[in-house]
Amino acid sequence: SSVKKDMVESEEQNGDLTNLDPSVKVVVRIRPINGQEKEVDRTVTKASSDSLSVGGRKFTFDSVLDANSSQENVFQLIGVPLVKNALAGYNTSVLSYGQTGSGKTYTMWGPPSAMVEDPSPASHQGIVPRIFQMLFSEIQREQENSDGRQTNYQCRCSFLEIYNEQIGDLLDPTQRNLEIKDDPKNGLYVENLTEEYVSSYEDVTQVLIKGLSSRKVGATTVNSKSSRSHIVFTFFIESWCKQGASSKCFSSSKTSRISLIDLAGLDRNKLEDVGRQHLQEGKNVKKSLSQLGYLVNTLAKETQPEKPEDVPYGGSCLTRILRESLGGNAKLTVMCNISADNRNTSEILSTLRFGQRVKAVRNEPVINEI
Ligand code: ADP
Repeated sequence: SSVKKDMVESEEQNGDLTNLDPSVKVVVRIRPINGQEKEVDRTVTKASSDSLSVGGRKFTFDSVLDANSSQENVFQLIGVPLVKNALAGYNTSVLSYGQTGSGKTYTMWGPPSAMVEDPSPASHQGIVPRIFQMLFSEIQREQENSDGRQTNYQCRCSFLEIYNEQIGDLLDPTQRNLEIKDDPKNGLYVENLTEEYVSSYEDVTQVLIKGLSSRKVGATTVNSKSSRSHIVFTFFIESWCKQGASSKCFSSSKTSRISLIDLAGLDRNKLEDVGRQHLQEGKNVKKSLSQLGYLVNTLAKETQPEKPEDVPYGGSCLTRILRESLGGNAKLTVMCNISADNRNTSEILSTLRFGQRVKAVRNEPVINEI
């Protein structure tokens, strides 16, 4: 019965987590202005910890981080609850949204060197490596506990890129044009996508560095290393917990996935600026982002389409991949990145409007017990 009590207590704790942590959370981060940029847009100001105003118009989100926020601040706000939720058995997703050059890559990954070196609190390391550092130290702590509970974990991950409306494998760049399949038992998956088993933070960083170095980037006028593709890093956790040695001992298994999605930049509409070779890429990025906007608009409405098949997930590879994260079984955090350079007001407004609509989407996360 004490095991039963533990179970109830742990469910209550998970319940707390559910209440503390909304199923869709939207965080805005304003990146600092760099030396080459024009004046900071004084019409964009952080009004409080959860609101900002643009030209007198106020927007409220779950949190607003200004240009002084550190990578550690972002991690505490997004990464810590994500790791707790993931280990409790919830699917979790982070979607990083914003104009090219607004700080999406910096916020998610940080510079590649910061993944392996310089783990000091002030480091530039992004939230993704911090998430896996915490996750593996929590797993180790759980395995070392001495209260008779024995938990085994198995973790694996994959890394894909959506480039020109095709899914490519970032862990095996020879694999392009992979197909999304729907398995009645296991849900959505990408056929033939490489999955690597990982059992430490170091294993994950190797996979991340390998995948990120294969990402398609192209030159644009806005940022010479701007991303031309959407990328999705997926991390699967399976755990088995056993308490007591007898055959009547309590045991449970959970499974969850962490999806970390870094979108290609929402660029200013000057496609001619990107040069001929990148024209098609730019068009595809634009098309998939507008399909994403359309999906979010539909999901944000009070009344949903009568038939589930009428929800427009099929518009692009990106919206198909996001089916679980948007409107499905996952706790979602949307990171809206903005750069308050005074040439960007229309992009800032477009990013903030996306953030407001996505906040109205209702997800239905459940603990995945098997
Ligand atoms: P995106 O991925 O949205 O195109 P990046 O993450 O590449 O944008 O950011 C553009 C530039 O600004 C990079 O040089 C990056 O290092 C820098 N940067 C972005 N956000 C911050 C920040 N919060 N603090 C310091 N530098 C930042």
